[in-house]
Parts: sequence; C-alpha cells; structure tokens
Amino acid sequence: MKIGIVGCAGRMGRMLVKAVDETPGAELAGGSEMAGSEFVGQDPAVLAGLPASGLSITDDAAALFAASDAVVDFTAPAATVAHAKLAAEHNTALIPGTTGLDASQQAEIEQAAAHVAIVQAANYSVGVNVLQVLTEQAAQMMGDDFDIEVLEMHHRHKVDAPSGTALALGQSAALGRGVDLEKVSQRVRDGFTGERTKGDIGFATLRGGMVVGDHTVMFASDDERIELTHKASDRGLFAKGAIRAALWTEGKAPGLYSMRDVLGLG
Ligand code: NAD
Repeated sequence: MKIGIVGCAGRMGRMLVKAVDETPGAELAGGSEMAGSEFVGQDPAVLAGLPASGLSITDDAAALFAASDAVVDFTAPAATVAHAKLAAEHNTALIPGTTGLDASQQAEIEQAAAHVAIVQAANYSVGVNVLQVLTEQAAQMMGDDFDIEVLEMHHRHKVDAPSGTALALGQSAALGRGVDLEKVSQRVRDGFTGERTKGDIGFATLRGGMVVGDHTVMFASDDERIELTHKASDRGLFAKGAIRAALWTEGKAPGLYSMRDVLGLG
C-alpha cells in the first residue's frame, strides 16, 4: 500500500516515515510540508535518518493525496481539516492523529468520512486503547461514589491541553457512567473553586521535559483509590499504530473508524 505522510518533517512525521519503512506491505508514496518550509525539496527518508529514497518533500498536498492509497496526518487542526477534504476528493484513506480539534473541525472530519475510510484516534497505541476499554468498564462497575480524575503529562513542546488521549479517557469514563462528558467535565481549577461537584470528571495537565505521554485515570472514594496508568516511552509507538491503521483501511467502506476497530477491541 502506498502511504503518504503530510507534515513529514515534524516530530511525529519523521517517526511515521520510519514506521512506513519498517512495516511490511507499506511503501512511502511521499511527504508534504507547509508552503515556505525549509524542508520542501528535501528527501523525507533522509530527514527520518534513513537512506535516500529519491523522493522530495512537496508543498502540493493534493498531488500527494493523488499518489497515495492512504495518508497519515499528524500536523495541526486547520491543516487536518484541509487534508480531510482532499482525502474525500481523491478517495484516499486518511489517518488523522492531530489532536486539539474543535467541534466544527471535528464535524468536517465526519463529513469527509461519508466519502472515504478515516481512522481517527487520539492515541494509536495498543495500550491506551486497552486502557480506554478498562476505564469504561471500571466507571460502569464503580458507580458515582468514586470521583474520577484524569491526569496527564507530556513534553514541553505540546501545544494543546488536556491531551487528546486524556479527553478520550474522560469520554470512556463518561460512557461507562452513562453521562455526557461535556456536562460534567472540569478542565481547569484555579483560585477559590469551592468543593468538588459530585459526578464531575476532572482533568489535570502537567508539561515538562521530553515526556512522551503519561496518563492516569484515578477513581477515588472515601476509603480507597484505584489508579489505571499508561506510560509511553517511545513516540515510535504511535507511528507504528498509525501505519497499522493505514494498512487496515484497504478495502474498507467509507466511515469514521477508531483504533478500537483496527485492534478488534469492540
Ligand atoms: P510538530 O509540530 O513536531 O509537527 C507538525 C508538523 O506538521 C510540522 O512539521 C509542521 O510544519 C507540519 N504542518 C503543519 N501544517 C501543515 C500543512 N498544512 N501541510 C503540511 N505540513 C504541515 O508536532 P508533533 O509533535 O509531531 O505533533 C503533531 C500532532 O500530532 C499534534 O496534534 C499532536 O498532539 C498529535 N499527536 C497525536 C498522537 C496520536 O497517537 N494520535 C501521538 C503524538 C502526537
């Protein structure tokens, strides 16, 4: 399968180029970057620390979509929306890993999924997807005497908060509890906040160093506490999962799929 990587000079972009190289059945169709980027014209493989591929990074995203069976996109929200439109136009499957999309940007991804297969995940690791299932089950089993808090830490360069994975875990907890996350989510606490409201799902964000991604879902009652934790130690993990998702789209009908579909987790 021919796989294109948009934003191929980014932290994840380079990992994705490497993951394509390491995955049997996957072939690099090319890479793109923003117009004006110093990386346009360079070899995406060399940038990823691999031998020369003879390809050169383009700023013509439409041409990359035309040349690819699937495109993987870990860029920025506005770029991902534009890429989703190109995916629908060119009938090219899309794996959008970008986080921090607002509701209207998310709606545009859903519109594109009416035309082509899209596998969207806040986190493409096996471990976090299992953690989502466990969080949903735990929230269902423990009832609302347990306060739920989601804690995350990432590297100093991350630009959105809480992380997409933290929000996805909050969503799993809300599903398990049968509530609407939008109505119970407590994303920021500062100053004189008053007591915790029963039923809230709280979020706490830490940033620093080069932490790849740590997430803990905490269930706290008067007498006991359960903590479910996942720690990613290499961002190549997300890249490998995203390429696995790209290969999975072969022959799939249009639709918005999740990593849980790819992994068969239901
Ligand atoms: P980064 O800033 O290092 O890389 C983003 C790249 O995209 C940059 O090279 C930038 O120039 C490029 N880009 C931006 N707009 C573009 C456009 N219109 N066309 C082509 N290229 C464009 O960031 P990063 O750390 O690689 O993270 C990127 C995104 O991936 C973030 O939203 C992050 O949260 C997300 N992420 C998701 C997962 C997951 O598993 N879903 C894992 C890690 C990171």
